[in-house]
Amino acid sequence: MIDEFLEGNRRFISNEFNHHLDYYHGIARGQSPTILWIGCSDSRVSEDVVTGSKPGTIFVHRNIANIVAYNDVNIAAILEYALVHLKIRDIVVCGHTRCGGIAAIEDGVEENYIADWLLIASGAKEKVDEIARERNLTRDEKLNLLIEENVRLQIKHLEQFSLVKSLARKGQAPAIHGWVYSVESGAIKTLVDGRRAP
Ligand SMILES: [Zn+2]
Repeated sequence: MIDEFLEGNRRFISNEFNHHLDYYHGIARGQSPTILWIGCSDSRVSEDVVTGSKPGTIFVHRNIANIVAYNDVNIAAILEYALVHLKIRDIVVCGHTRCGGIAAIEDGVEENYIADWLLIASGAKEKVDEIARERNLTRDEKLNLLIEENVRLQIKHLEQFSLVKSLARKGQAPAIHGWVYSVESGAIKTLVDGRRAP
């Protein structure tokens, strides 16, 4: 089973790497990605594959349900490196359809760590519960709305990071994009189109 991946690496070298040696030798000297991708860990949403991008173009942070957590030193360090050192000016927060994390927010889960982690997105569920009470939403409609509200909420969290605020004060706020990737169609829907933190 694991050999398939090493075999895949050999195919990558012969079919891709060796055909674009100038490019790969160039990025070996230093990366200059143009976007920071904050996405879900879900195996179906590989940011470079679904955006048709080569290695060297996307700086990546992925976790369950594409959450931006204030107290997460990992994402804070990634943001700092992306915005201050790599000078990235576009951030994508990408959710996706059929997200297990989002279903767990809706249904609740027993696992301690996962439940605690998903609490960070509970504001999105409260909002969608309210909407669902007014309209007669099916479960799928409700989950799809929750996926979108979660992206919007995590963008709000992102805008509240002191680093993002201080860049905004200097007129260097990154453009933030909210997307939802459909695992059914492969298409990306834009929810938030390059908003800059106030
Ligand atoms: Zn997911």
